[in-house]
Amino acid sequence: MSDLRTQALDDFRRRCKEQGLAFTFQRQVIYEAVVDSREHPTPEWIYEQVRQRIPSISFGTIYKNVKTFLDSGVLKEVTLHHGSLRLESNMTPHHHLVCSSCKAIFDIEESAVAPVQLPKTKLPAGFSIKQCRVEFVGLCRSCQTARRKRSEANSGVIRRRR
Ligand SMILES: [Zn+2]
Ligand SMILES: [Zn+2]
Repeated sequence: MSDLRTQALDDFRRRCKEQGLAFTFQRQVIYEAVVDSREHPTPEWIYEQVRQRIPSISFGTIYKNVKTFLDSGVLKEVTLHHGSLRLESNMTPHHHLVCSSCKAIFDIEESAVAPVQLPKTKLPAGFSIKQCRVEFVGLCRSCQTARRKRSEANSGVIRRRR
């Protein structure tokens, strides 16, 4: 187990304790799946991983635990407005790069982005800001490669074999 992973798990255990959540083996396995993915996984993906270690677990149980994690704040949801639920295990403030094709989400440290400023006068009356999230949308490397290959195929480029 890497130090980072051990540390993430320790942090998680501490956050659970603070929130009065029992730190069960099941919850540990679910959390480890989230941490290991580094990909802001969906509950469905987590289910596939956890099932390999706890074959008897149901998707409902996974989903219920994930909801409990989110409600108590021990895990975060990536964005509130996206159609599917994506989980965040990186609890330090950061921003995201989102691939518009495969929906992969990459973290980018907060300090890499110039301070985002929003003058109070531009806010709708009474709106109070709790957090700032910046999302950069683009294409990840594998989607770019796939597109290039597709367009090459379409334009009839033939790769000659040696
Ligand atoms: Zn992609
Ligand atoms: Zn993230």
